[in-house]
Amino acid sequence: MQTDLIQRLPKAELHLHIEGSFEPELMMALAERNRITLPFKTLEDARAAYNFSNLQEFLDLYYQGMQVLRTEEDFFDLTWAYLQRAEADNVRHVEMFYDPQAHTERGVPFGVVTDGILAAIKKGEQELGISSYLIMSFLRHLSEEDGFDLLVQSEPWHDKFIGVGLDSSEMGHPPLKFERLYQRCRELGFKLCMHAGEEGPPSYVREALLDIGVDRIDHGNRCMEDPELVSMIREMQIPLTNCPLSNLSLCVIDDLKQSPVKAQLEAGLLVTVNSDDPAYFGGYIGRNYEQTAAALGLSDQQLIQLARNSFTASFLPEANKQRHLAAIETAA
Ligand SMILES: [Zn+2]
Repeated sequence: MQTDLIQRLPKAELHLHIEGSFEPELMMALAERNRITLPFKTLEDARAAYNFSNLQEFLDLYYQGMQVLRTEEDFFDLTWAYLQRAEADNVRHVEMFYDPQAHTERGVPFGVVTDGILAAIKKGEQELGISSYLIMSFLRHLSEEDGFDLLVQSEPWHDKFIGVGLDSSEMGHPPLKFERLYQRCRELGFKLCMHAGEEGPPSYVREALLDIGVDRIDHGNRCMEDPELVSMIREMQIPLTNCPLSNLSLCVIDDLKQSPVKAQLEAGLLVTVNSDDPAYFGGYIGRNYEQTAAALGLSDQQLIQLARNSFTASFLPEANKQRHLAAIETAA
């Protein structure tokens, strides 16, 4: 049974927005704790709202839900809930994005957000044995100047981040808009991630790869429209963090059979499977593997390759990668 194999395989999750793991139950509980009124009265109303047809509709709900996150304890609870869920899917390492600007712009201090997440990460390492790296993301619908402000504001925590990311509305906000900011982040020693080619054209992936010099491309679906670009990504072995159920929810694809994961594996690309915003897109990482395998007819060997890729594409030190890869051999 492939479900058993998927469960057994140790996995890393490399494309996860911690705010996107906000389940309606927890959202309603925190709304009550913080005495905030949500536009939905019942859990059913909330679940019904978790239904959208494109990136912008999703983002509107995503930012609305975040309003109830106010205290360090809220951010701790959010992160801890995700880590427990990840453990159930045998995730052994996580590199999670978070969006500080979405919180600071509504008056929640940077430290409240970051320290709450970090406390849960520490507990996850101690009690679940899951290692986690934090990736600070810039909101691309804001200006590069806003990004520089965040970089300054976050200075006391710089040793707590492995890298930076770029997310939110992609269309009209190409990678080059943030060229100077990313140059600075490179100088500061951060790993560079960037969402590109989810809705945006292949030229955005090219910019991220060649002009920005990213270490990892998030999504990257539309690189497949440009064979020369595919060759470059293969030769450079730049990882792609694909998110199949997210692609389906946001209508990047109409059917999971259109997911590029299999074609990317067969083209020799370092592709990984991830959940993106699992509370909103109908599944955590295990379900992403299962549904993708079923839709594309992935072989056991291809599933093992995806698990291997998740660690190879991570920012873990080489010795840790080897330890996880050895565990995959044992589990397979
Ligand atoms: Zn994402």
